[in-house]
Amino acid sequence: MSTVSPEVFASDHVPWRYLFNRNGSNAKRAGNYIDASDAIAPTISDRVAGQTTRFEQLRANDCYFYDTPIESCDGAWVTVDGQRLLMLASYNYLGFISDVAVLASARRAIDQYGIGQHGSRLVSGTTSEHKALERELADFMQAEDAIVFNSGYVTNLATIAALVGKGDTVIGDEWNHACIVDGCQLSGADFQMFRHNDLRHLEQLLTKSRRGNTLVAVDAVYSMEGDIAPIPEIVALCKKYGALLMVDEAHSIGTIGKTGRGVLEHFELPADAIDIKMGTLSKSFGACGGFIASSSQIIDFLRHQARGYVFSVAMPVPQVVAVRTAISRLREEPQLAVGLIEISRKYRDQLRSNGFNIYGSGTQIVPIACESDEEAFAFTRRCRELGLYVIPIVYPAVPMNAPRIRTNLTTLHTPDDIRFAVELLVQAGRETGLIEPA
Ligand code: PMP
Repeated sequence: MSTVSPEVFASDHVPWRYLFNRNGSNAKRAGNYIDASDAIAPTISDRVAGQTTRFEQLRANDCYFYDTPIESCDGAWVTVDGQRLLMLASYNYLGFISDVAVLASARRAIDQYGIGQHGSRLVSGTTSEHKALERELADFMQAEDAIVFNSGYVTNLATIAALVGKGDTVIGDEWNHACIVDGCQLSGADFQMFRHNDLRHLEQLLTKSRRGNTLVAVDAVYSMEGDIAPIPEIVALCKKYGALLMVDEAHSIGTIGKTGRGVLEHFELPADAIDIKMGTLSKSFGACGGFIASSSQIIDFLRHQARGYVFSVAMPVPQVVAVRTAISRLREEPQLAVGLIEISRKYRDQLRSNGFNIYGSGTQIVPIACESDEEAFAFTRRCRELGLYVIPIVYPAVPMNAPRIRTNLTTLHTPDDIRFAVELLVQAGRETGLIEPA
């Protein structure tokens, strides 16, 4: 175990408070995050200096594992500082980042269109490839129309801020991704959070909201927990109270449902159960960008009102074309999703039976709970020494009392890779006291 003094790891160390971004109007009731508005605001330079100190201390104690330069990639393996490591922190769920057909199509697109765009979509950035991708995404997501943005983060931010505003209510799960939270805050609507997957709490908030003026936004699969949201029940509550439902499918497309179509397929729900389906193009589709699939009316509204679309450059065509190829590859090989579901289930079973707490994970995202930030850093360090690329996730990405190592599986992981991963996780877990010795 590390010998670093506990205060270096104290999660309520002041600078961290200011990274906090979950201050919905009922945040203190909903989650165990600190509301930054409670603290006396330091000067900007004090805030910057405080954070620098924290990171300097972490670096000095060999506890800083972020922003690691990867030198090369080979399937599920990467090279870092000359050392080959098995990658367990990638969103390349279906392996399309290095798919031969995807790469070939992107190369052809570079030859035809060049590397960048000429402006935002409304000005000069739209190509026939963008239009084709939007038709294909609409079809894939069983929606009337779709719109693509240049990042998943911007998609949520711009969409929520365009749809709701002052006088409206936006309600989100307390564990929603930061870009949903940021969109809710940016919108100016009354922002309420419900306890994670707590339907009674959601209903309580809905009873106080106005029919027709409320948006509920949730993740389908939670990025730090790997659990699947109770979407059928959330759909029913939204219908009952006349709220619009937006679901972020960043981690569910390509990974759940028997052909990888995501949460509707997983729960066998009708196409129109979710009003606004959001997805990223940076995970199962192996590129960059985000999209909304919805009614033609909502998509047309976003095309002219979503500021991250109107005032930011278009997604580059090589990326657009890469995603088009990835979608057709997934249509040709729908069994990719089932394969990932199957290996993830075995991997979770093995971690659980070795004594790890993996929260409620039911997907390819498998967190390993740690008792303290210090334990998470020590475990990460040992995993990296042994040959695994993992990262510690601490506050404010997760609640203060719930640091963890998050591991992700992809279709590139072979059975041998998974055996190797489990063996080394168990070894590192025993050596650092995370699990009991054999
Ligand atoms: N939504 C969720 C649930 C995410 O996990 C992420 C990023 N990890 C995003 C949106 C943002 O997507 P992107 O990284 O493609 O901008």
